Amino acid sequence: MPSAEAALLALQVVERISPQARSIRIEVRPDGRVLLVIPRTVPKRAAYDFLRSREDWVRRKVVEWQQHPKAPAPQPPRWDGRDRIPLRGLRMPLLLVPTRSARPLVRIDEAITLFCAPAQTSPAARATAVRRSLRELARRESLHILQDEATRLGVDFEGPRVADQRSLWGSCTPAGLISLNWRLILAPTEVLRYVVIHELCHRRHLNHSKRFWHLVNRQMPDFENWRAWLREHGAGLHAVLPKAGSDEPNPQFDLLGDGV
Ligand SMILES: [Zn+2]
Repeated sequence: MPSAEAALLALQVVERISPQARSIRIEVRPDGRVLLVIPRTVPKRAAYDFLRSREDWVRRKVVEWQQHPKAPAPQPPRWDGRDRIPLRGLRMPLLLVPTRSARPLVRIDEAITLFCAPAQTSPAARATAVRRSLRELARRESLHILQDEATRLGVDFEGPRVADQRSLWGSCTPAGLISLNWRLILAPTEVLRYVVIHELCHRRHLNHSKRFWHLVNRQMPDFENWRAWLREHGAGLHAVLPKAGSDEPNPQFDLLGDGV
């Protein structure tokens, strides 16, 4: 008799053993892969039995994704006048304006982002400059939201530290220093607000207990929508102006961005 695993071979199942998860969870990803989250205390076989019991639903979801593929993840800018970057969840044009001034300047407003610099500035330097400006914008906007939400919740905080973490959207130390990922400025503002509220609620509960989630829910009753948005689209945000490093072959270009 074939094992439960073998019966599911046609599906691309990705297992994740999670110390935090309380129950078995199944997520069907837009690329058709099936994520099976297994609490550490649950035997694998039980998780696969559960998955098999939901197999019809999983297969329906896989087909749904195939029929309604999501927009492709954003690509690094090509600087051909047709680039779009997401800002506060909206796609907006990113244009290069050639200038004589050696000092690059990035202008971000509600409808457009302009990168003003000599035309010969390298694409890597342009990306670095735009990334820095967006990071500064993220710092300013998240500070406002932090102040509002901290007042509403009646807690204090330090920071924020705004960084380019690979996998973290936010964190809160026991002393109350809040770190946020700058890429949250690319997402709808409610997503940033959710992460801010989440981190501020850690000022009351330094864990993910029921009481913690109850408090998050009290402060933002529709938080599940924004949390789901982040799970679904978060990876795509990392494709926007990817972090300088191995994916940018000539690191010396980054020095040109320092004028901003
Ligand atoms: Zn948390």
